Amino acid sequence: MSSQHGEWDEARVRDLHAALVDQYGPVGASDAHGADSEADPAEGVRQLLTTILSQNVADENTARASENLFATYADFEAIEAAPTEELAETIRVAGLPETKATRIQRALAAIREETGGAYSLAFLDAMATDEAKAWLTDIKGVGPKTASVVLNFHFGKPTMAVDTHVERVSKRFGLVPEAASNARAHDVLDEAVPDELIYPLHVLLIEHGRTFCSARNPDCANPVCETYCDCEGC
Ligand code: SF4
Repeated sequence: MSSQHGEWDEARVRDLHAALVDQYGPVGASDAHGADSEADPAEGVRQLLTTILSQNVADENTARASENLFATYADFEAIEAAPTEELAETIRVAGLPETKATRIQRALAAIREETGGAYSLAFLDAMATDEAKAWLTDIKGVGPKTASVVLNFHFGKPTMAVDTHVERVSKRFGLVPEAASNARAHDVLDEAVPDELIYPLHVLLIEHGRTFCSARNPDCANPVCETYCDCEGC
């Protein structure tokens, strides 16, 4: 299919979302806490550490590494103070253990230094999305996807986590330029997608990627793609 649909304006993004909902059903709310004062302040930190563990690895291994991590150490202070090699052993199932152990300890140090001693990311809630994202991505090893997972899923801030499915499908739909880097794809989608559709569209694009739009041999005969796909040659 050639690029016959042109630019994506807000109405077209909304229509795509509606078509994906027709195909897959509505998406429930994320478990974002936002400004909820009842939320456990440690939960955001847990989400950040788990997301670091999930970088470039399957969900199942992330879950096992996360269980090991939180079963082995009593609290965040103990994780930060642990010998890095020991921490790496604890999370080995997540892959890249030394790298991820270093990232986790670096993230915990940054949080403790920012708050003056507490392991809490609650301060991000008061920040504008761009500012909060910049704070997180200033931590070496925390990229835009990891930052957006924490900010969107936990804090309900409007920034889309662009994983491999979201990036592939967005490019095939023509929402994101084919040559865009992953970081650029984050910026383009945050700009193009209305705030309240960021989380549901994230979920629906992943669903579409898993159901029809696989990396190899996509199944293009589906109602959503009849209308919206700008792919060349399918
Ligand atoms: S399934 Fe086919 S038509 Fe649909 S977005 Fe993917 S490549 Fe394009």
